[in-house]
Amino acid sequence: MSTFTFSTTEKNKPLLICKGFTYTIDKTTNDKTYWKYEHVRKFKCKGRIHTNCTHTTLLHENDNHNHPGNSVSTEIRIFEEKIRHRALNSNETTQNVIDYCLTNLSDNAVASLPDFKHVKRNIQNRRGKNDLPEIPHDKTFNLIPDKLTATK
Ligand SMILES: [Zn+2]
Repeated sequence: MSTFTFSTTEKNKPLLICKGFTYTIDKTTNDKTYWKYEHVRKFKCKGRIHTNCTHTTLLHENDNHNHPGNSVSTEIRIFEEKIRHRALNSNETTQNVIDYCLTNLSDNAVASLPDFKHVKRNIQNRRGKNDLPEIPHDKTFNLIPDKLTATK
């Protein structure tokens, strides 16, 4: 069976990610959760997954998608969700939030990330006035520019 992982949508709904495809909950029963391809209406796609009710086991998979999956874009979805979560739930500096969320991201995904100025602005916007001041000479500060320049 395929491996799968979870994130959440911008509306805070569970998002199942499998082979570069994203699924949201279609319906739930006592023992199963039925997932449909996230953009099913747009693509009229038959991609479906069934899991057990605790979302730990994949019971059925119809990966007969009529469009390609994109593992880089799903990685970035996970990255953005991590950023949203961490921006709101930690007191770390913006730079540290980004550092943490970059961990385990593939080189391809790092290369496809939005401009870091936008990422930082998003973090700061989410936090509003509570954001801590930037610490430009933080130890980790020198790590990120290396990673960024390496992908250009
Ligand atoms: Zn599909």
